[in-house]
Amino acid sequence: MKIQLLPGGGANNPKEQYLTSFLINDELAVDAGALPLALSRARQLAIRHIFITHAHLDHMAGLPLMLDNIFTEMSQTILVYAIKETIDALHQHIFNNVIWPDFTSFKNSNDVNLQFQIVTPGQPIKVNDLEIIAIPVSHTVPTIGLVIKNQEKAIVISGDTGSTEELWLKARNLDELTAAFIECSYPNRLSDLASKYGHLSPQLLFAEYQKIGKNIPTFAYHIKPAYLEEIITDLQALENKHIIIAEPGQDYEV
Ligand SMILES: [Zn+2]
Ligand SMILES: [Zn+2]
Repeated sequence: MKIQLLPGGGANNPKEQYLTSFLINDELAVDAGALPLALSRARQLAIRHIFITHAHLDHMAGLPLMLDNIFTEMSQTILVYAIKETIDALHQHIFNNVIWPDFTSFKNSNDVNLQFQIVTPGQPIKVNDLEIIAIPVSHTVPTIGLVIKNQEKAIVISGDTGSTEELWLKARNLDELTAAFIECSYPNRLSDLASKYGHLSPQLLFAEYQKIGKNIPTFAYHIKPAYLEEIITDLQALENKHIIIAEPGQDYEV
């Protein structure tokens, strides 16, 4: 499985992540923060399936912009998968014909448009040769983490979360788990703040990593640009070779 944390909008430093999105096997996106900023139009047109972990701006900002960019040329329906609370928020606050057109309410000349698919936590969804399972995590709004499997391997993406249990229990029980992507928004000195707002710091990330109980590559992402250097220092201080800082724009084969 090929996965890339897409570059997230840092003009001065490409490691800065203002917007969050992953691209898997060039066809499935997890979150849509940076999609049209990070990808050519041709690569945007190749994406058919997008999972949105929650409604926060940094995870969906690119979706309305990408739709506008490719809508007239789209030859296939774009399917956006999310829990009902997220879909309701996107419809009500973004695709409401005020902030942005409701791209679900009309079709292009190829007779396709945007369609929302409600995800039920725990129920697998098939996307080509991938299977995706959503698990609720602990954030300030309803949010899901994802387990993504192909025939041989599985990965887990935390979504925005503080300390959580069900997702890691699921990950722990997957023999084929080969990598974890865990958010790390704040430095250790702001761990209390992180917990309060449903986020993690390096020391809190390490506690979550230990719940998986496997020595697998664990990529820290969702590093707030304001604390980038401090968080990197804190992560390096863990001195654990399995904890890796996800490099935006780099393809990982996991
Ligand atoms: Zn969030
Ligand atoms: Zn976020």
